[in-house]
Amino acid sequence: MIGFPSPARLKGLKPSAASVRVEPSDCLVLVEIGNFAVLRRHLGQLRANELIANVAASVARLVPGSEATVVSRERFEWSPACRSTQALDRVLRKVEAAFEPPFSIDGQLFDVDLMIGAAIRTSPDVDQVRLIEEAEQALCEARIERTPISREVASSTASVDRIALSKDLAGAIADGQMFLHYQPKVHLRRQSITSVEALIRWQHPVRGLVSPADFIPIAEESRDIVALTLWTIRQVIADQSVMVAKGHDLRVFINIAAALLADARFVRRACALVESGGTKIGFEITETSVIRDPESAITHLKMFAEMGIEIAIDDYGAGLSSLAYLKKLPASELKIDKLFITQLTSSNRDPLIVRSTIDLAHALEMEVVAEGVETPSALALLSVMGCDMAQGYLISRPLALDALMTFMEENSQVGLPAQAPTPLARLAGVGKGG
Ligand code: C2E
Ligand code: CA
Ligand code: CA
Repeated sequence: MIGFPSPARLKGLKPSAASVRVEPSDCLVLVEIGNFAVLRRHLGQLRANELIANVAASVARLVPGSEATVVSRERFEWSPACRSTQALDRVLRKVEAAFEPPFSIDGQLFDVDLMIGAAIRTSPDVDQVRLIEEAEQALCEARIERTPISREVASSTASVDRIALSKDLAGAIADGQMFLHYQPKVHLRRQSITSVEALIRWQHPVRGLVSPADFIPIAEESRDIVALTLWTIRQVIADQSVMVAKGHDLRVFINIAAALLADARFVRRACALVESGGTKIGFEITETSVIRDPESAITHLKMFAEMGIEIAIDDYGAGLSSLAYLKKLPASELKIDKLFITQLTSSNRDPLIVRSTIDLAHALEMEVVAEGVETPSALALLSVMGCDMAQGYLISRPLALDALMTFMEENSQVGLPAQAPTPLARLAGVGKGG
């Protein structure tokens, strides 16, 4: 006997799945049994299939009058009435607390590991589809972060944009609407630019310049990210041959989205392109992308590293960081997220985090890049802390290829006295002791 009353007796639970959708409501919570496969092994198929209805009923009882609808063997939708994001967060904490202790199934104790993603509508023009999409995104995040995630959905404009943008995206690559900017990374001790990061831009015929922060997540969702990244690799190789002809032999780092690292077909195509290009390439990846599917991610990263592609770990500290994985990755660079760098000189905590991250990376024989360096004082502090490289608006904004080459030419005499009227002159004197 499972330790929950039978669903039929429970008020608030709609036991049948596919036929019923939740009523349009201001708040939608998706709850998934994260360890369903393990529980099924213990319980057997029949009892495992009953489990979700019982969990849903128990959750629904936490907020009297709320309704839960089972949508699959491991997932249900729930719409507790919450008037604010704070109220929703309180409800989610209540659910978390209720399922913290193991519960009894036929006298045996089991942990039911709930993954919870929620969305709350704070504006009437947000439609139900958008609410569901946002809750689904929150659930994806919750699986990675292993904590309930809620999202506030304020207006439906973004949703219309998302749909419209995703329609335009595939054609945009073929139409030549994409282009690259390059942002230099400065090596502090050598006082020279050793590499640049390629950052993609979309010149939309109607909307104008669209930020990658807006379209990369859409491209990941629609799988256009594969074509987009292969295009980027080709474009970087072409741009590099222009740079080499002008005497600038720089490694170019390309951002590789999380979804691609486990995609064997993408990896094969990327390797073939880089191999035929014969130029110096690096890939920036995030730890989160490794955590999704560690085995294939690490195998693929090793393939890249063996081909001479340098691996940088991007946005370090922003997401879930795991020392266990960090040690296993064939990475040569660790990029500290700009979150910690932009407030470096105004926060008490951030300098400690940055300092210990630099020491950790050095212990693992990686070089450290600080991104988001915006002020001379941050640069000076980073240099004292032993940071190896810096990237940010202080040194240069991301630049078109021509502007990058001009920047390189103007700064070819880095390390000369500070009178030189070049952006890198501000580096003179910084980091010379290291
Ligand atoms: P990211 O990889 O963390 O890139 C750094 C972002 O910070 C860039 O924004 C850059 O312009 C910005 N940035 C640089 N210096 C500073 C600074 O001093 N202060 C501040 N506040 N920001 C600075 P951008 O170009 O808008 O890119 C946003 C994100 O989009 C990137 O974050 C990356 O995750 C993604 N992205 C960009 N290009 C690509 C691409 O080709 N492929 C993939 N998969 N993702 C890309
Ligand atoms: Ca990056
Ligand atoms: Ca970054």
